Amino acid sequence: FDDDSGAYLKVVTNDHVAYRYETLETLGRGSFGQVVRARDHKTGNIVALKIIRNRKRFHHQAAVEVKILDALRRKDPANDNNVVHMIDFFTFRNHLCIVFELLGINLYDLTKRNNFQGFNLQLIRKFAISILKCLKLLRREGIIHCDLKPENILLRSKGHSAIKVVDFGSSCYENQKVYTYIQSRFYRSPEVILGIPYGLPIDMFSLGCVVAELHTGYPLFPGENEVEQLNCIMEVNGVPPKHILDQATRRRVFFDSKGNPRSLTNSKGKRRVPGSRQLEAALKSDDKNFLDFVARCIEWDAERRMTPEEAMQHPWISERAVEARFRQPGDVTTRFSPTAGVPVVPPPAPSTK
Ligand code: ATP
Ligand code: MG
Ligand code: MG
Repeated sequence: FDDDSGAYLKVVTNDHVAYRYETLETLGRGSFGQVVRARDHKTGNIVALKIIRNRKRFHHQAAVEVKILDALRRKDPANDNNVVHMIDFFTFRNHLCIVFELLGINLYDLTKRNNFQGFNLQLIRKFAISILKCLKLLRREGIIHCDLKPENILLRSKGHSAIKVVDFGSSCYENQKVYTYIQSRFYRSPEVILGIPYGLPIDMFSLGCVVAELHTGYPLFPGENEVEQLNCIMEVNGVPPKHILDQATRRRVFFDSKGNPRSLTNSKGKRRVPGSRQLEAALKSDDKNFLDFVARCIEWDAERRMTPEEAMQHPWISERAVEARFRQPGDVTTRFSPTAGVPVVPPPAPSTK
C-alpha cells in the first residue's frame, strides 16, 4: 500500500484494507479518492468502501461527510429515507475510509447506458418521490446536500427503480456554511452563481435540473463556464428580477455597468438570448404538470421555490400517489374511481414574498 504522489491509497485487486476489507473492483474515482467494491471478511458482506485521499482538504471534507452521515443515521434509524447507509468509518494508513452499503449504478451511467435517450415520466416521478423523501429529512435536520446530480443518485443494487442519494462530501448544516462556491456547475443554483446567501432551496433547484435531464437525456443548463451557466438559466427563465440582482455580490461577472447581461459565444458558436428558450421545448414535453413542477424548482427567487414538502403535494407527484393506490391488489373500490389519474391536491400557491 504505497501512496502515490497524488496521495491516493494504491489499491490492487484482492488487497486488504485494515486487515478486514478485501478490495474487489473500483466503482468510482474522483478528486476525493476512490470508491471500491470490497468484501468485509468479518461479516462476509460485500460493501462499498470510500477511501479518501491523504490530503488535509479532502480529509477534512470527508470528516464532515462522516459527521453528517452519522447524524442522519441516528435521525433515521430504520434508514427508510433514501439516504445511503454508512456502516462504519475508520482511518487506515492516514486515509479516512467510509464503509457504505453497496448500491448499484448511478443515474448518469444509467442514462448513458440508455444512449442518452431519457426515461419516461412514470419512472422519473418514482425517482423524484424518492429524492424528495431524502430532501424532506435533510430539511428537518437543516442539512443542505450541495451536490445533487445524477452521478450522486444510485439505484439500489437489487431494487429495480428504487434509488438512494449518496455523496454527502460537500454537504453542510444550513447554519454552518463554510464555502460560498458549491454544487456541480450544471446543477448550480442562481444564488450560488450570483453570490447571494444560500440555503436549503439550492437542492430543490438541482432537483429541477435533474428531473429535466432524466427526461431529455441531457443537462438542462449545460454551461461551459459560469458565465454561460447563468446565460443558460436566463435563456429559459429570462433575466433575474431586480431584487435578486440587487443582492448579487458577483453581479459584475455577469452584467455590465448598465445591467445588461454579458453576452458570450460558446464553443459551438451559440449565443444564448434571455427568455428565448421555452421550458416546453427545453424539456421536450407537453405534460403541463411536469413543466410546472420543473418551473417551480428552478425559480430565480429561492423563497418562491417549492420546499420538498410542497413538492410532494404538487400534482405531478401526487398524481402518482393516486395511481399507486389503484394498483394495489384487491383495491377494487378505488380501482374504478372516476378520479383515476386526476390530481387530488391543487398546486401550492406561489409565495408572495
Ligand atoms: P468527487 O466529488 O471528487 O467526484 P465524490 O465525492 O463524488 O467524488 P462519491 O460520489 O461518494 O464520491 O462516489 C463516487 C462514485 O462512486 C459515485 O458516483 C458512484 O458511482 C460510486 N459509489 C459511491 N458510493 C457507492 C455505493 N455505496 N455503492 C456503489 N457505488 C458507489
Ligand atoms: Mg459524487
Ligand atoms: Mg463529491
